[in-house]
Amino acid sequence: MRETIQKLLALQSHDRLIHEANTDWESIEPRREALKSNALQAQKKLESQKQGLKAAEVRRKELELEVESKKNLTQRYAQQQLETRNNEEYRALASQIRHVEEEISKLDDQQIECMEEIETLKVETESFEKTFQESIDSIKKQLEDLQVREKELDERLDSLEDQRDELCEGIDPDALARYERLFDKKGPTSIVGVDRNVCGGCHMQVTTQAVVSSKAANEITTCPNCGRMLYYSPEMDVDI
Ligand SMILES: [Zn+2]
Repeated sequence: MRETIQKLLALQSHDRLIHEANTDWESIEPRREALKSNALQAQKKLESQKQGLKAAEVRRKELELEVESKKNLTQRYAQQQLETRNNEEYRALASQIRHVEEEISKLDDQQIECMEEIETLKVETESFEKTFQESIDSIKKQLEDLQVREKELDERLDSLEDQRDELCEGIDPDALARYERLFDKKGPTSIVGVDRNVCGGCHMQVTTQAVVSSKAANEITTCPNCGRMLYYSPEMDVDI
């Protein structure tokens, strides 16, 4: 049984490598999704910035057209002034012209504000585009690295599985089946040492009988608390 335990321990070391490679492999897809989601967010942020700039440009054009239409209006009033012979009507037109000119002045101020806003937005958008491009380049690089890593892990897992088949050869089938059932639940701490009467897996005190039995290694001893397989090695300080 000592030999079986030793073989199972070697298998467990190997299964730990498979377990780590699998964990690494399983983390790839979520990392890939996270990177894609970051790229999408960066894209949305840039689009929203560009839309802000576009809206400001539309607003500036609207103000320009409004000023133009009000200037035409003042010209029409001025023409009517020239044509009228009625003093009252002349004064009313003059008042309307002043009123429209005040409106034009306000619109001019708004246009200046709008143009300043556009300038700021243009500078911001350029900076956003630069940041976006840098993010996208970095994300592309990381996605490529992930693809390389995935391929490496695929190959590593294939090779580890082949080596595992070799390691399983000659192991008592019942012991192997027990170990594999345990591994499904406990992972790479299915066979643990018993040190100072304590199970190396659950760290609970085990019975003296379990310690003696693991030391004798005539049969596979299990921890009464967690069910892991126990082994004893001479370098451990067993207090019995
Ligand atoms: Zn235990």
